[in-house]
Amino acid sequence: MNQFRFSRRPDIGDKIRVSFEFFPPKSDEMEARLWDTVTRLQPLKPKFVSVTYGAGGSTRERTARTVKRILKETALTPAAHMTCVNAARHEVDEVIQEFADMGVTRFVALRGDPAEGVGAAYRPHPDGYANGAELVGALKGVGDFDISVSAYPEKHPESPDFATDIDMLKRKVDNGATRAITQFFFDNDLYERYVERARRAGIYIPIVPGILPVHNFTQVANFSSRCGALVPAWLAERFDGLQTDPQTHALVASAVAAEQVLDLVERGVGDFHFYTMNRADLVFAVCHMIGIRSHEAEAAGSAAA
Ligand code: FAD
Repeated sequence: MNQFRFSRRPDIGDKIRVSFEFFPPKSDEMEARLWDTVTRLQPLKPKFVSVTYGAGGSTRERTARTVKRILKETALTPAAHMTCVNAARHEVDEVIQEFADMGVTRFVALRGDPAEGVGAAYRPHPDGYANGAELVGALKGVGDFDISVSAYPEKHPESPDFATDIDMLKRKVDNGATRAITQFFFDNDLYERYVERARRAGIYIPIVPGILPVHNFTQVANFSSRCGALVPAWLAERFDGLQTDPQTHALVASAVAAEQVLDLVERGVGDFHFYTMNRADLVFAVCHMIGIRSHEAEAAGSAAA
C-alpha cells in the first residue's frame, strides 16, 4: 500500500520546486559560512534564493553586496528582500532602483518590524510606505518584477483577527504580488486552514510554506513566541534534553523537518521555501528526501558561462 504514497513516487523531485533564504553575513567568518552553504545548495537548482534585509532596514549595504555577489558568481536567481520601515518613500525608491540597476528581477516585499524590535508598536515613517501592500505598489511602479510577500498561517501578531490579516494579503495581491511565503509554522493543519481562508477570500496566488529546520530549539522557541508562531508541545518534547547533545539534536531536527515537508507533499504542496539560517546540511537532507537532487556539472557549466 505504502508505495502508492505520492511522496514516495520515483519522479517526485520533478514535481517540487524549492527556494532558499539567506541572511547577509556580518563578519568574514559568517561570510565564508554563507558561501559554503550557497556552493552546497546551488546544485539543487532552487527557483530563486532570497537575501533578507536587516530589522529596521539596517543591512541595506550588506544585502546589496550579497545579492550582487550571487548575481556575479553563481547561476542562481536572487530575490532581494526589502522593507519600508523607518524610511521615506524616496529612500525606498532609491533602494529599489539600486537593485533594479544591478539586474535584480525578484523581490520579497515587507513592511518590516519596528527598530525597537518585534512586538513594539509600529509607526509608519511620516513620508514612508505604510505597509507591505504599499511597498508592492511602489515596486510595480518601477518594473514588472516577481514580487513575493509575507503570509501568516497563525495570523500576524498585530492583526486583530484572521479577516484583517487576510485582507492585508489581498491588498498585496491586488497591488501585484506574485506569491506569498509564509512565516514558519510547525502544524500543517494551520497552514492548510490559512490557505483555505485565503482562497475563500479570492486570493489565488501560490502560498508557499516557509520551512524552518530547527538548528537550535531554544532559539527557535524564543523567537517563535515573539513572532506569533506556535511551538507545539510535541515539538518541545522531541527536543527535550538535547541542548547539550548537538549530534542528536541535528538528527531529530532533520527528521522533524522531513516529516513536516513530506506531510505537506502528501497534502498536494509542490513549492517550499527554506529558511536556511545560512546552513546547508538540514536543508540539503530534506531536499534529498523529496527527490531534489544535485546537478553539480550543469550548475558549474552555467556559472562558468
Ligand atoms: P504587512 O503585511 O504590511 O502587515 C502585517 C500584518 O499587520 C497584516 O497582516 C495586517 O493585518 C497587520 N497590519 C498592518 N498594518 C496594519 C494597520 N494599519 N492596522 C491593522 N493591522 C495592520 N523582516 C525584516 O526586517 N527583514 C526581512 O528580510 C524579512 N523577511 C521576511 C520574510 C518572510 C517570508 C516573512 C514571513 C517575514 C519576514 N520579515 C522580515 C518579518 C516582517 O518584516 C515582520 O513580520 C513584520 O512585522 C511585518 O511585515 P509584513 O510585510 O508582513 O507586514
